[in-house]
Amino acid sequence: MFYFTKTPAFLKSLYKSCIWNFSPAQPVVYLTFDDGPHPKATPFVLEQLKKYSAKATFFCIGKNVVEHPDIYQQILSEGHVAGNHTHNHLNGWKTSTEAYLDNIREASRYIRTNLFRPPYGRISPFQIKQLKKDYRIIMWDVLSADFDTGISGETCLQNVVFKMQPGSIIVFHDSEKAWDRMSYALPRVLEHCARQGLRMEAIL
Ligand SMILES: [Zn+2]
Repeated sequence: MFYFTKTPAFLKSLYKSCIWNFSPAQPVVYLTFDDGPHPKATPFVLEQLKKYSAKATFFCIGKNVVEHPDIYQQILSEGHVAGNHTHNHLNGWKTSTEAYLDNIREASRYIRTNLFRPPYGRISPFQIKQLKKDYRIIMWDVLSADFDTGISGETCLQNVVFKMQPGSIIVFHDSEKAWDRMSYALPRVLEHCARQGLRMEAIL
């Protein structure tokens, strides 16, 4: 499996209309959690965030919101922000634009937001053009790679702390697959940010 833990400039310039990071002028980083809500991982994340008064953005899968409406409500009631991550975690490169937009519309019945993140980061320029009418498309500049079962929690932690900078958008997953690495790295990332004087805010 190949991926960039730090998004290279050429990729950002290829998809200019998407948001990859925010201004480095403020001491703020943006933690994001994809693929929830999940009955074990999401409450864990919320508890960790609360310890540091950190706010985050959760790119939820519509189907998971339908299955865990209480956890979805908890995300919102604790002051975090939800984003749309399609209803069934579709890959934009393998899905017609019509079916892709339909699936996002289905998720929007359960997730009220103007933020969208494409699953796998895979989306076509035409799909972007259509979605831009209703959504800000939020990508990332730092990937924890917590989804990679071939790496340790320690590597996942290092991916974040060595690559992030003020303004970074950082990806974690509140999912079964990422649990071992995310549950190790997240508390340590939060501690690191707090020590560095970096605030953790939700994307608005
Ligand atoms: Zn995803």
